[in-house]
Amino acid sequence: MKEKVFRCKQCGKCCLTTEYADISKEDIELWKKIGRYDLFTPDMLVEWDYFGSSGWFRNQLSTRCPFLRKKKNEDTYYCKIHKIKPLFCRSFPKDKEHAKNFCGCVGYL
Ligand code: SF4
Ligand code: SF4
Repeated sequence: MKEKVFRCKQCGKCCLTTEYADISKEDIELWKKIGRYDLFTPDMLVEWDYFGSSGWFRNQLSTRCPFLRKKKNEDTYYCKIHKIKPLFCRSFPKDKEHAKNFCGCVGYL
């Protein structure tokens, strides 16, 4: 059976569930290219394996990604760096199963 088209409902579950966002070498290269050095300062990254492929966003005050924002007077969320968010985030969800198992994402409903 054909899988339903995915449509993000901006419920925020995926970002609220995860305590980190994996950062790839490609993400860092893109951010450097566009001058967004603020996205990978030592303060922003818990760990960055310079020759490897991963680091994690953190927030000093909570486990929530620092780029997650709640819309004013609405129960929906958005990503402050949506257009340049990490590949890890851009590739979510891979399919319906991934969506359901990761956080109960409602994008296929
Ligand atoms: S859980 Fe799914 S529907 Fe909700 S914000 Fe994330 S991708 Fe969108
Ligand atoms: S970078 Fe954006 S999409 Fe990724 S976890 Fe943070 S708020 Fe969510």
